[in-house]
Amino acid sequence: MELIFLKPYMKEVVWGGTRIQKEYGYMSNSDHIGEAWLVSANENGLSKVINGKYKGLSLKELWDKHREIFGEELKGVFPLLIKYIDAKDNLSIQVHPNDDYARVVEQQPNGKAESWYILDCDKDSDILIGHNAKNKEEFKKYIDNKEWDKLLRIKKIKKGDFFNIPAGTVHAIRKGTLILETQQNSDITYRLYDYDRLQNGKKRELHIKKSIDVVTCPYDKSKVEIKPIVKGDKIEYINNEKFSITKYIVKNGLNIEFEKFYIICVIEGKGSVNDIEIAKGTNFIVPKSFGRIKIKGEMELMLIHN
Ligand code: ZN
Repeated sequence: MELIFLKPYMKEVVWGGTRIQKEYGYMSNSDHIGEAWLVSANENGLSKVINGKYKGLSLKELWDKHREIFGEELKGVFPLLIKYIDAKDNLSIQVHPNDDYARVVEQQPNGKAESWYILDCDKDSDILIGHNAKNKEEFKKYIDNKEWDKLLRIKKIKKGDFFNIPAGTVHAIRKGTLILETQQNSDITYRLYDYDRLQNGKKRELHIKKSIDVVTCPYDKSKVEIKPIVKGDKIEYINNEKFSITKYIVKNGLNIEFEKFYIICVIEGKGSVNDIEIAKGTNFIVPKSFGRIKIKGEMELMLIHN
């Protein structure tokens, strides 16, 4: 058994740039990159294996043909989608459906819960998260009256903050923020408001009715602004039925024992894993029942599991 290293899919967007390539050492011919899909088995952008006997396969092919790597008991589509997002502009205000709504209304296997780890942000940055409506009638009234300032909650952010964003939570990343996003493998987004911006002379489509259908009222801050559990150099952000995310700050080496399959993203520093060199920007899969991995160097690692 070997560790499986992945190359990200680089996603172009109109507001994109070159920061992700520069920060994480990724190659791209485009200077309009807004997202890197680090671990993706989603048809809209696949990450690929770059080493060993599975070299060249997409993560989707690996999942479909070699389920033993992840666990034969795991059914359906690959559960996660992990991205770096470099927001050079305010992203649209959106909300995602839960699994039930996605299945019934969109004929898709997954809704979308997501989470953000703030890798970096400008001074005095903020995000839009949650809303102030007591119920759906009030939510609709604010929208009809275009009272966005009254409806939406603004939250100041700083580097290292973590937000859990269950399906039904209104949210928007704002300008100047670099995040690590972990989400369910789904691309269903309902856009509530896009600042009346024009793209090629047209406003982008909004999905007001579906947004009102799926939004959680009232907003529950306690599910979103989660206090991480700090155990020395190990910080547990979340562990629920959708995903678990833990950060390790490696200084003097680290041995970890793995039973389930795991994803590891190096978000800072450099070092090695089982004597293979790794650095900021490296992403790899630890197959199921892999056993012990030996990590050396000075790094920050995100360990992610579904
Ligand atoms: Zn979202």
